[in-house]
Amino acid sequence: GSKSKVTVVGSGNWGSVAAKLIASNTLKLNSFHDEVRMWVFEETLQTGEKLTDVINKTNENVKYLPGIKLGKNVIADPDLDNAVKDANMLVFVTPHQFMEGICKRLVGKVRGDVEAISLIKGMEVKMEGPCMISNLISEQLGINCSVLMGANIANEIAVEKFSEATVGFRDNREIAEQWVKLFSTPYFMVTPVQDVGGVELCGTLKNVVAIAAGFVDGLDMGNNTKAAIMRIGLREMRAFSKLLFSSVRDSTFFESCGVADVITTCLGGRNRKVAEAFARNGGKRSFDDLEAEMLQGQKLQGVSTAREVYEVLSHRGWLELFPLFATVHEICVGRLPPSAIVEYSEKKPRLS
Ligand code: NAD
Ligand code: 13P
Repeated sequence: GSKSKVTVVGSGNWGSVAAKLIASNTLKLNSFHDEVRMWVFEETLQTGEKLTDVINKTNENVKYLPGIKLGKNVIADPDLDNAVKDANMLVFVTPHQFMEGICKRLVGKVRGDVEAISLIKGMEVKMEGPCMISNLISEQLGINCSVLMGANIANEIAVEKFSEATVGFRDNREIAEQWVKLFSTPYFMVTPVQDVGGVELCGTLKNVVAIAAGFVDGLDMGNNTKAAIMRIGLREMRAFSKLLFSSVRDSTFFESCGVADVITTCLGGRNRKVAEAFARNGGKRSFDDLEAEMLQGQKLQGVSTAREVYEVLSHRGWLELFPLFATVHEICVGRLPPSAIVEYSEKKPRLS
């Protein structure tokens, strides 16, 4: 029939919440099949059980979103090819570092007319330059890809606290409206914006700002300093985005994906939390170590994004223009102490 089948590729903390949101809507809306397939990167739990089996038995992702029912119409599937083969709508939501491999595996496996959306905050840097994850999906799979970003700490949306989000679309407003319908609930308000590059860069770059905010927390610098870092970070986000894509709009930075995501991530995100611990340890314990200990399998995006941004900055001769972004990377790799975040950002405000 003409009903759309939705598959979620990814089942981490946000991936599971996305599946829950979508599954509540496919039950209510006639234009979608009730069932939502969720591809799960299979793992064996400490109990010896397979994660997919437990999700399908209990309706809960006990590892990445414990205590939350996903909806009976969410079906966990460990087989990627099988999970995507009939889908008309694909929702990508894995940590960004896994997407190149996933795209390679998906070539020739998805329907030619499938529409995709990426909830992934991150990018890849290639020889030719930076490649946003939505572009990676589009180019590798030959399909259209929108994005959904916003001030969306997954655990808060899981318990149905109100938040907003932004859908970024390229040129087809009807498709954007489909995605808005699929995601919107009374507690999740989604706004479409015709600026896919701006929306995705907001979601990606704010993770670097969140690392900076975490350093400030770890140094006990207080709220004014943190607000200054957030402002400088937002300014670098806008400047970097506009240098990469001239089509990026200023107004996008006032959407949920922009200023609101900077605020929530710098207050309550995982990047902030682990960066605080890094600074409290004086940079003596690595991010990898702290991530494994503090996040129990969940993944940070900000540290690798800082490295990816740094590569772009150095290739293009822009390092001087982006002291905050550059300094975050230098601190993460141990070339500068955490305290450099304040000194460098303060003393080199080169952008207007
Ligand atoms: P997560 O941080 O919970 O990561 C864990 C997931 O990665 C698990 O599903 C795990 O199975 C999977 N994984 C581990 N190794 C893998 C491999 N080799 N190949 C494929 N998958 C593997 O994931 P998340 O929170 O769902 O984040 C996904 C994306 O969504 C990220 O880009 C993140 O920035 C973004 N995001 C997260 C939140 C949030 O609050 N968690 C909110 C908004 C956006
Ligand atoms: P963290 O990955 O830092 O938790 O940020 C989550 C997020 O993107 C909130 O919008």
